[in-house]
Amino acid sequence: MFEADNWLKECDGFLIDLDGTLYRGHDAVPHAKEFVEWLNRTGKKYLFVTNNSSRLPRQVAAKLREMGIPAEEEHVFTSSQATAMYIRNHSKVVTPAVYAIGEEGLLSALTDLGCRWEEENPDYVVVGIDRDFTYQKLMTASLAIRKGAVFLGTNADKRVPTEKGLVPGAGSLSRAVAAASGGEPVWIGKPEARMVEYSLQRIGTTPDRTVMIGDNLETDILAGINGGIRTVLVLTGYSSRRDAERSSHKPDMILEDLSEFLRCFEIE
Ligand SMILES: [Mg+2]
Repeated sequence: MFEADNWLKECDGFLIDLDGTLYRGHDAVPHAKEFVEWLNRTGKKYLFVTNNSSRLPRQVAAKLREMGIPAEEEHVFTSSQATAMYIRNHSKVVTPAVYAIGEEGLLSALTDLGCRWEEENPDYVVVGIDRDFTYQKLMTASLAIRKGAVFLGTNADKRVPTEKGLVPGAGSLSRAVAAASGGEPVWIGKPEARMVEYSLQRIGTTPDRTVMIGDNLETDILAGINGGIRTVLVLTGYSSRRDAERSSHKPDMILEDLSEFLRCFEIE
């Protein structure tokens, strides 16, 4: 039987990955519902932290609810929201001028935090996933970066899993812009420390009492390590126990699934 380390029992903040951790494709991972119900019942502070920049938080919450997992939009934190926070924290003007390559989730997050659209001379060029990426967009972004705009990438994921296989992710589009412009993006999403830092600001917990739970060593676990919090790898998604043994990014705990997590708290 699995014995919980004391540190996990003392955690009151939970940063939780989505794909591979709470669901796979269109189906909830077993015990995901019970896990989120437990978070609610015990009054834990938590965020679903996703690199996906395309969707609105309310769309992410709706998708979770469709799979039977209780979720509200205030519990969702996307790389698009983090990118908008970065701009708000760094901009010297109240209404930063931004050119963005991205979808609804990114454009809306930027607008919500007071950015205005500017193609010729933006202060920032932001690149997220955009399934309508074109040469024209690549050119507009590149020219702006060459004129001095700060270049931000919502996340560095080169490929994302779909039913068709691995398809280009936001990181591939950012790298196209990097090649064309000669600039290098500031990355925002996992595994960057700032994604954890902003998440902690959102839920108001301290690093020593917050844990990152995810299925990917290279994004979730490394984000936790970079952000100075503890990490739990669940083996329901991308990374295997073998991967963890070989990786230099060691999680503090490895669990087969979320039922094992719940058992940690219920066997006293
Ligand atoms: Mg994942």
